[in-house]
Amino acid sequence: MQDKDLRCQAKKLFSFFLAMSGWAWYNVGMKATPKLSQPSKMPCKSWSLPAWTTCPGARNADGSAVDACSMCYALQGRYTFGAVKEVRDHNLTDWTESDWTDAMVKAIGKSTYFRWFDSGDIYSPDLADKIVEVCQRTPNCQHWIPTRAFKDARIQPLLDILNALPNVVVRLSSDSIDGETIEGDNTSTIIESPEDFVSGKGRVLCRAYTRAGKCGSCRACFDKRVKIVSYPRHGRKVKTIKAAGYIG
Ligand code: SF4
Repeated sequence: MQDKDLRCQAKKLFSFFLAMSGWAWYNVGMKATPKLSQPSKMPCKSWSLPAWTTCPGARNADGSAVDACSMCYALQGRYTFGAVKEVRDHNLTDWTESDWTDAMVKAIGKSTYFRWFDSGDIYSPDLADKIVEVCQRTPNCQHWIPTRAFKDARIQPLLDILNALPNVVVRLSSDSIDGETIEGDNTSTIIESPEDFVSGKGRVLCRAYTRAGKCGSCRACFDKRVKIVSYPRHGRKVKTIKAAGYIG
């Protein structure tokens, strides 16, 4: 066999090994190996954590789920599959590695959009600190961070720091499924149906439902000028949430 063929075979084998082990080329030599996902709706990659366990803002005082989170898509369907759960479980410990911010900056690379938390939330001030650094070091990428972590007094000031960055939109999620809005520069709410959308300056109706659930060219969630995004309700109440041990 020619040298060139051997090199080609070796390269293919190396790529196969990386793919099978869940590594990515940008992580070689690093302790942290963040695993990104590609939500089917989104125009970009995402970094996510296990839903509910990392979502203290999803709970009422009695431990039950707030209305919006009782319908959480990330506790149902394909999100319950082993491979999807494994990625989120991995990220839950991986972010504590000392070189995680370096690895994330590399993983985001030249991406122009990035969505944090397709599932999960900022449950720790230390994680919030690290996300600030990642966003500061990726100024050419527009970050969208949907969150209920503003309920945590330790994390709320860090969200303000994040939202002050020109390339970041921290979008505070209302607990309502009836269109109630909350205070904040950038927020979101859930409405029963598109007919319930209240139009106005800085308000946008998510029209992904007209595009088979995909964002298409819309980037409203990433846009600081958009004050409130209204998402028409979809999905069903999580019937298994208690049985699965998510709610005590
Ligand atoms: S408002 Fe636009 S960017 Fe946000 S989820 Fe809907 S389609 Fe996607």
